[in-house]
Amino acid sequence: MTSRPAPEPPLPVEEPERLAVRVTCRACGRPLHDPESRLLRYGPGCRPGTDPVRRHDVDQDALPGL
Ligand SMILES: [Zn+2]
Repeated sequence: MTSRPAPEPPLPVEEPERLAVRVTCRACGRPLHDPESRLLRYGPGCRPGTDPVRRHDVDQDALPGL
């Protein structure tokens, strides 16, 4: 006589809730996927305080003697 233990029922697979929550950009309304943008609620190009196309022109003096 062999007695085998009854197989345990498989645990239900649950999706992580934070991944299911849809976060959209507050500026343009596009869905955000990367954690940093989701945290800020702004897309990479819509964050306030940052200017992605900012160029700083620095006046450089010509080196003397060249
Ligand atoms: Zn945006």
